[in-house]
Amino acid sequence: MAHSEFDIIDRYFRHPSAPGRMPTLGLGDDCALIDLPSSSRWAVTTDTLAEEVHFHPGTDPERLGHKVLAVSLSDLAAMGATPAYATLALTLPRVDEQWLAAFSEGFFRLADVFGVSLMGGDTTRGPRSITVTLIGELPADRGLTRSDAQPGDLIFVSGTLGDAAGALTVMAEAGGNPPLPLRLRLERPEPRVALGQALLDVASSAIDLSDGLAQDLGHVLGASCVGATVRVDRVPLSDALRARVPYPRNLVLALSGGEDYELCFTAAAEQREQVIQCGRRCGVPVTEIGFVSEQAGLRLLDCDGDPVPLSRSGFEHFSHEA
Ligand code: ADP
Ligand code: MG
Repeated sequence: MAHSEFDIIDRYFRHPSAPGRMPTLGLGDDCALIDLPSSSRWAVTTDTLAEEVHFHPGTDPERLGHKVLAVSLSDLAAMGATPAYATLALTLPRVDEQWLAAFSEGFFRLADVFGVSLMGGDTTRGPRSITVTLIGELPADRGLTRSDAQPGDLIFVSGTLGDAAGALTVMAEAGGNPPLPLRLRLERPEPRVALGQALLDVASSAIDLSDGLAQDLGHVLGASCVGATVRVDRVPLSDALRARVPYPRNLVLALSGGEDYELCFTAAAEQREQVIQCGRRCGVPVTEIGFVSEQAGLRLLDCDGDPVPLSRSGFEHFSHEA
Protein backbone atom coordinates (compact mmCIF):
# COMPACT_ATOMS: atom_id res chain seq x y z
CA MET A 1 0.00 0.00 0.00
CA ALA A 2 2.08 2.93 -1.39
CA HIS A 3 5.19 3.92 0.50
CA SER A 4 3.67 3.60 3.94
CA GLU A 5 3.17 -0.18 3.86
CA PHE A 6 6.47 -0.81 5.60
CA ASP A 7 5.80 1.93 8.15
CA ILE A 8 2.45 0.33 8.92
CA ILE A 9 4.00 -3.12 9.34
CA ASP A 10 6.81 -1.82 11.54
CA ARG A 11 4.59 0.33 13.67
CA TYR A 12 1.60 -1.92 14.16
CA PHE A 13 2.49 -5.50 13.31
CA ARG A 14 6.06 -6.08 14.46
CA HIS A 15 5.39 -7.72 17.81
CA PRO A 16 7.47 -9.98 20.09
CA SER A 17 7.10 -13.70 19.31
CA ALA A 18 5.17 -15.87 21.74
CA PRO A 19 7.33 -18.05 24.02
CA GLY A 20 8.61 -21.07 22.08
CA ARG A 21 7.05 -19.74 18.87
CA MET A 22 9.95 -17.83 17.32
CA PRO A 23 9.99 -18.42 13.55
CA THR A 24 13.44 -19.26 12.19
CA LEU A 25 12.86 -16.26 9.92
CA GLY A 26 9.98 -13.87 10.68
CA LEU A 27 8.62 -10.65 9.17
CA GLY A 28 10.72 -8.93 6.51
CA ASP A 29 11.69 -11.50 3.87
CA ASP A 30 9.63 -12.95 1.04
CA CYS A 31 8.53 -15.84 3.25
CA ALA A 32 8.73 -16.72 6.91
CA LEU A 33 10.66 -19.90 7.71
CA ILE A 34 9.68 -22.31 10.47
CA ASP A 35 11.50 -25.50 11.40
CA LEU A 36 9.22 -28.38 12.29
CA PRO A 37 9.71 -31.06 14.92
CA SER A 38 9.06 -34.45 13.32
CA SER A 39 6.85 -35.49 16.24
CA SER A 40 4.12 -33.02 15.35
CA ARG A 41 1.70 -32.10 12.58
CA TRP A 42 0.09 -28.78 11.72
CA ALA A 43 -3.56 -27.81 11.72
CA VAL A 44 -4.03 -24.89 9.29
CA THR A 45 -7.09 -22.67 8.93
CA THR A 46 -7.98 -19.41 7.11
CA ASP A 47 -10.85 -16.99 7.75
CA THR A 48 -11.79 -13.69 6.11
CA LEU A 49 -13.92 -10.92 7.56
CA ALA A 50 -15.10 -8.50 4.85
CA GLU A 51 -16.74 -5.14 5.56
CA GLU A 52 -20.47 -5.02 4.71
CA VAL A 53 -20.50 -8.82 4.57
CA HIS A 54 -19.21 -9.90 8.00
CA PHE A 55 -19.12 -6.62 9.88
CA HIS A 56 -20.66 -3.16 9.64
CA PRO A 57 -18.46 -0.19 8.64
CA GLY A 58 -17.87 1.58 11.97
CA THR A 59 -17.40 -1.68 13.93
CA ASP A 60 -15.03 -1.10 16.86
CA PRO A 61 -11.58 -1.95 15.36
CA GLU A 62 -10.27 -3.33 18.66
CA ARG A 63 -13.10 -5.87 18.70
CA LEU A 64 -12.53 -6.62 15.02
CA GLY A 65 -8.85 -7.39 15.72
CA HIS A 66 -10.00 -9.74 18.46
CA LYS A 67 -12.72 -11.37 16.41
CA VAL A 68 -10.75 -12.12 13.25
CA LEU A 69 -8.25 -14.08 15.33
CA ALA A 70 -10.91 -15.58 17.63
CA VAL A 71 -12.83 -17.21 14.78
CA SER A 72 -9.67 -18.95 13.54
CA LEU A 73 -8.70 -19.94 17.08
CA SER A 74 -12.14 -21.54 17.33
CA ASP A 75 -11.32 -23.70 14.29
CA LEU A 76 -8.08 -24.83 15.94
CA ALA A 77 -9.99 -25.53 19.16
CA ALA A 78 -12.34 -27.83 17.25
CA MET A 79 -9.34 -29.88 16.08
CA GLY A 80 -7.81 -29.99 19.57
CA ALA A 81 -4.75 -28.10 18.25
CA THR A 82 -2.44 -25.75 20.14
CA PRO A 83 -2.24 -22.29 18.48
CA ALA A 84 1.24 -21.40 17.22
CA TYR A 85 1.67 -19.06 14.22
CA ALA A 86 -0.45 -16.65 12.18
CA THR A 87 -0.32 -14.59 9.01
CA LEU A 88 -2.45 -11.50 8.53
CA ALA A 89 -3.61 -10.11 5.16
CA LEU A 90 -5.06 -6.62 5.52
CA THR A 91 -6.87 -4.70 2.79
CA LEU A 92 -7.67 -1.15 3.87
CA PRO A 93 -9.29 1.76 2.04
CA ARG A 94 -6.79 4.26 3.54
CA VAL A 95 -4.19 4.57 6.26
CA ASP A 96 -6.12 5.33 9.43
CA GLU A 97 -3.66 5.38 12.34
CA GLN A 98 -6.34 5.26 15.00
CA TRP A 99 -8.01 2.29 13.36
CA LEU A 100 -4.69 0.45 12.95
CA ALA A 101 -3.65 1.09 16.56
CA ALA A 102 -6.93 -0.23 17.94
CA PHE A 103 -7.11 -3.16 15.51
CA SER A 104 -3.55 -4.34 16.24
CA GLU A 105 -4.14 -3.97 19.98
CA GLY A 106 -7.19 -6.23 19.84
CA PHE A 107 -5.36 -8.71 17.64
CA PHE A 108 -2.19 -8.96 19.74
CA ARG A 109 -3.97 -9.01 23.08
CA LEU A 110 -5.68 -12.23 22.04
CA ALA A 111 -2.57 -13.54 20.24
CA ASP A 112 -0.57 -13.11 23.46
CA VAL A 113 -3.21 -14.93 25.52
CA PHE A 114 -3.01 -17.98 23.25
CA GLY A 115 0.73 -17.87 22.43
CA VAL A 116 0.33 -17.02 18.74
CA SER A 117 3.28 -15.46 16.86
CA LEU A 118 2.50 -13.29 13.82
CA MET A 119 5.04 -14.45 11.24
CA GLY A 120 3.99 -12.50 8.14
CA GLY A 121 1.20 -11.12 6.05
CA ASP A 122 0.25 -8.66 3.35
CA THR A 123 -1.00 -5.08 3.36
CA THR A 124 -2.91 -3.66 0.39
CA ARG A 125 -5.36 -0.90 -0.48
CA GLY A 126 -9.00 -1.65 -1.26
CA PRO A 127 -12.38 -2.24 0.42
CA ARG A 128 -11.73 -3.22 4.04
CA SER A 129 -11.15 -6.95 4.41
CA ILE A 130 -9.10 -8.96 6.89
CA THR A 131 -7.80 -12.49 6.41
CA VAL A 132 -6.04 -14.51 9.08
CA THR A 133 -4.31 -17.82 8.46
CA LEU A 134 -3.62 -19.66 11.67
CA ILE A 135 -1.37 -22.64 12.29
CA GLY A 136 -1.78 -24.91 15.28
CA GLU A 137 0.27 -27.83 16.50
CA LEU A 138 -0.88 -31.38 17.16
CA PRO A 139 0.97 -34.52 18.12
CA ALA A 140 1.76 -36.54 14.96
CA ASP A 141 -1.25 -38.63 13.84
CA ARG A 142 -3.66 -36.85 16.17
CA GLY A 143 -6.52 -34.37 15.84
CA LEU A 144 -10.29 -34.19 16.39
CA THR A 145 -12.15 -34.43 13.11
CA ARG A 146 -15.80 -34.31 12.11
CA SER A 147 -15.83 -37.82 10.77
CA ASP A 148 -15.38 -40.14 13.76
CA ALA A 149 -18.69 -39.88 15.62
CA GLN A 150 -19.91 -43.41 16.45
CA PRO A 151 -23.45 -44.73 17.05
CA GLY A 152 -24.02 -44.70 20.82
CA ASP A 153 -21.76 -41.68 21.41
CA LEU A 154 -23.13 -38.84 23.51
CA ILE A 155 -23.38 -35.30 22.07
CA PHE A 156 -22.18 -32.31 24.09
CA VAL A 157 -21.94 -28.55 23.59
CA SER A 158 -19.85 -26.03 25.51
CA GLY A 159 -21.14 -22.76 26.97
CA THR A 160 -24.51 -21.37 25.89
CA LEU A 161 -25.94 -21.11 22.37
CA GLY A 162 -27.83 -18.40 20.51
CA ASP A 163 -26.36 -15.36 22.30
CA ALA A 164 -24.61 -13.80 19.27
CA ALA A 165 -27.69 -14.42 17.12
CA GLY A 166 -29.73 -12.89 19.95
CA ALA A 167 -27.59 -9.74 19.79
CA LEU A 168 -28.14 -9.52 16.01
CA THR A 169 -31.89 -10.04 16.47
CA VAL A 170 -32.11 -7.22 19.00
CA MET A 171 -29.98 -4.94 16.79
CA ALA A 172 -32.39 -5.54 13.91
CA GLU A 173 -35.30 -4.20 16.00
CA ALA A 174 -35.99 -0.46 15.68
CA GLY A 175 -33.61 1.23 18.14
CA GLY A 176 -32.62 -2.18 19.46
CA ASN A 177 -29.64 -2.13 21.82
CA PRO A 178 -28.59 -5.63 22.91
CA PRO A 179 -27.65 -6.15 26.55
CA LEU A 180 -23.86 -6.28 27.05
CA PRO A 181 -23.60 -10.07 27.64
CA LEU A 182 -25.21 -10.72 24.23
CA ARG A 183 -23.24 -7.99 22.45
CA LEU A 184 -19.95 -9.35 23.83
CA ARG A 185 -20.76 -12.83 22.57
CA LEU A 186 -21.16 -11.34 19.08
CA GLU A 187 -18.19 -8.96 19.11
CA ARG A 188 -15.68 -10.66 21.42
CA PRO A 189 -16.15 -14.43 21.10
CA GLU A 190 -13.97 -16.49 23.45
CA PRO A 191 -12.59 -19.47 21.53
CA ARG A 192 -12.67 -22.74 23.52
CA VAL A 193 -9.02 -23.55 22.88
CA ALA A 194 -8.22 -25.15 26.25
CA LEU A 195 -11.35 -27.31 26.11
CA GLY A 196 -10.50 -28.51 22.59
CA GLN A 197 -7.01 -29.50 23.69
CA ALA A 198 -8.35 -31.27 26.78
CA LEU A 199 -10.82 -33.22 24.62
CA LEU A 200 -8.14 -34.53 22.29
CA ASP A 201 -7.95 -37.83 24.20
CA VAL A 202 -11.61 -37.91 25.20
CA ALA A 203 -13.89 -36.86 22.32
CA SER A 204 -14.56 -38.91 19.18
CA SER A 205 -15.41 -35.94 16.92
CA ALA A 206 -15.74 -32.18 17.21
CA ILE A 207 -16.81 -29.06 15.30
CA ASP A 208 -16.98 -25.41 16.27
CA LEU A 209 -20.38 -23.78 16.01
CA SER A 210 -20.30 -20.93 13.52
CA ASP A 211 -23.45 -21.56 11.48
CA GLY A 212 -25.86 -22.81 14.14
CA LEU A 213 -26.11 -26.10 16.02
CA ALA A 214 -28.48 -27.87 13.61
CA GLN A 215 -26.39 -27.14 10.55
CA ASP A 216 -22.98 -27.69 12.16
CA LEU A 217 -23.99 -30.89 13.94
CA GLY A 218 -25.40 -31.94 10.56
CA HIS A 219 -21.88 -31.65 9.12
CA VAL A 220 -20.56 -34.02 11.78
CA LEU A 221 -23.37 -36.50 11.17
CA GLY A 222 -22.83 -36.39 7.40
CA ALA A 223 -19.06 -36.77 7.66
CA SER A 224 -19.44 -39.64 10.15
CA CYS A 225 -22.29 -41.37 8.22
CA VAL A 226 -24.48 -41.44 11.34
CA GLY A 227 -27.61 -39.71 12.69
CA ALA A 228 -28.53 -38.16 16.03
CA THR A 229 -31.27 -37.35 18.48
CA VAL A 230 -31.10 -34.03 20.33
CA ARG A 231 -33.36 -33.00 23.21
CA VAL A 232 -34.06 -29.32 22.52
CA ASP A 233 -34.97 -28.64 26.18
CA ARG A 234 -31.39 -29.53 27.12
CA VAL A 235 -29.79 -27.03 24.74
CA PRO A 236 -28.14 -24.49 27.09
CA LEU A 237 -29.49 -20.92 26.89
CA SER A 238 -27.97 -18.01 28.82
CA ASP A 239 -30.02 -16.02 31.34
CA ALA A 240 -29.34 -12.93 29.20
CA LEU A 241 -30.87 -14.55 26.13
CA ARG A 242 -33.86 -15.88 28.07
CA ALA A 243 -34.46 -12.43 29.56
CA ARG A 244 -34.22 -10.49 26.29
CA VAL A 245 -35.67 -12.87 23.69
CA PRO A 246 -38.81 -14.80 24.64
CA TYR A 247 -39.31 -18.54 24.22
CA PRO A 248 -39.53 -20.12 21.69
CA ARG A 249 -37.59 -17.57 19.62
CA ASN A 250 -34.58 -17.92 21.92
CA LEU A 251 -34.55 -21.66 21.28
CA VAL A 252 -34.77 -21.12 17.51
CA LEU A 253 -31.71 -18.85 17.78
CA ALA A 254 -29.84 -21.49 19.81
CA LEU A 255 -30.63 -24.18 17.24
CA SER A 256 -30.17 -22.26 14.02
CA GLY A 257 -28.48 -18.92 14.82
CA GLY A 258 -24.79 -18.57 13.99
CA GLU A 259 -21.55 -17.27 15.48
CA ASP A 260 -21.66 -19.13 18.77
CA TYR A 261 -18.00 -20.23 18.53
CA GLU A 262 -18.73 -22.94 21.07
CA LEU A 263 -17.68 -26.55 20.54
CA CYS A 264 -20.08 -29.35 19.70
CA PHE A 265 -18.48 -32.75 20.17
CA THR A 266 -19.22 -36.41 20.61
CA ALA A 267 -17.72 -38.89 23.07
CA ALA A 268 -18.29 -42.53 23.95
CA ALA A 269 -20.83 -42.98 26.77
CA GLU A 270 -18.13 -44.32 29.11
CA GLN A 271 -16.24 -41.01 28.71
CA ARG A 272 -19.13 -38.96 30.18
CA GLU A 273 -17.39 -38.30 33.50
CA GLN A 274 -14.11 -37.44 31.73
CA VAL A 275 -15.93 -34.92 29.52
CA ILE A 276 -17.45 -33.21 32.55
CA GLN A 277 -13.99 -33.12 34.18
CA CYS A 278 -12.50 -31.52 31.03
CA GLY A 279 -15.13 -28.79 31.19
CA ARG A 280 -14.49 -28.23 34.88
CA ARG A 281 -10.71 -28.06 34.42
CA CYS A 282 -11.11 -25.50 31.64
CA GLY A 283 -13.79 -23.48 33.44
CA VAL A 284 -16.29 -24.02 30.62
CA PRO A 285 -19.74 -25.50 31.23
CA VAL A 286 -20.36 -28.58 29.12
CA THR A 287 -23.90 -29.88 28.51
CA GLU A 288 -25.03 -33.27 27.22
CA ILE A 289 -27.78 -32.65 24.64
CA GLY A 290 -28.31 -35.96 22.87
CA PHE A 291 -26.83 -39.08 21.34
CA VAL A 292 -25.57 -40.48 18.04
CA SER A 293 -27.46 -43.27 16.28
CA GLU A 294 -27.07 -45.36 13.16
CA GLN A 295 -30.21 -43.99 11.48
CA ALA A 296 -29.20 -41.00 9.31
CA GLY A 297 -30.59 -37.51 9.99
CA LEU A 298 -31.04 -35.20 12.95
CA ARG A 299 -34.10 -35.78 15.14
CA LEU A 300 -35.16 -33.08 17.60
CA LEU A 301 -37.28 -34.04 20.61
CA ASP A 302 -39.04 -31.76 23.09
CA CYS A 303 -39.09 -32.29 26.86
CA ASP A 304 -41.92 -34.86 26.53
CA GLY A 305 -39.93 -36.82 23.98
CA ASP A 306 -42.22 -35.67 21.15
CA PRO A 307 -40.60 -34.86 17.80
CA VAL A 308 -40.03 -31.21 16.91
CA PRO A 309 -40.63 -30.97 13.16
CA LEU A 310 -37.78 -29.58 11.07
CA SER A 311 -38.52 -27.94 7.75
CA ARG A 312 -36.34 -26.65 4.98
CA SER A 313 -36.93 -23.08 6.13
CA GLY A 314 -35.84 -23.86 9.67
CA PHE A 315 -37.91 -24.67 12.72
CA GLU A 316 -41.41 -23.84 11.59
CA HIS A 317 -42.99 -25.41 14.62
CA PHE A 318 -41.36 -22.73 16.75
CA SER A 319 -41.35 -19.93 14.19
CA HIS A 320 -45.19 -19.99 14.06
CA GLU A 321 -45.45 -19.61 17.80
CA ALA A 322 -42.87 -16.81 17.84
P1 ADP B 1 6.23 -9.16 -0.70
O1 ADP B 1 6.04 -7.98 -1.60
O2 ADP B 1 7.48 -9.92 -0.93
O3 ADP B 1 5.01 -10.01 -0.59
P2 ADP B 1 5.60 -7.38 1.37
O4 ADP B 1 6.26 -6.10 1.00
O5 ADP B 1 4.17 -7.57 1.09
O6 ADP B 1 6.46 -8.57 0.76
O7 ADP B 1 5.80 -7.59 2.93
C1 ADP B 1 7.05 -7.42 3.56
C2 ADP B 1 7.12 -8.26 4.80
O8 ADP B 1 6.15 -7.78 5.74
C3 ADP B 1 6.81 -9.73 4.55
O9 ADP B 1 7.67 -10.49 5.38
C4 ADP B 1 5.39 -9.86 4.96
O10 ADP B 1 5.12 -11.17 5.45
C5 ADP B 1 5.26 -8.83 6.07
N1 ADP B 1 3.91 -8.25 6.17
C6 ADP B 1 3.24 -7.52 5.23
N2 ADP B 1 2.03 -7.12 5.70
C7 ADP B 1 1.91 -7.63 6.94
C8 ADP B 1 0.89 -7.58 7.93
N3 ADP B 1 -0.29 -6.96 7.76
N4 ADP B 1 1.12 -8.24 9.09
C9 ADP B 1 2.28 -8.89 9.28
N5 ADP B 1 3.29 -8.96 8.42
C10 ADP B 1 3.12 -8.33 7.24
MG1 MG C 1 3.08 -8.49 -0.30
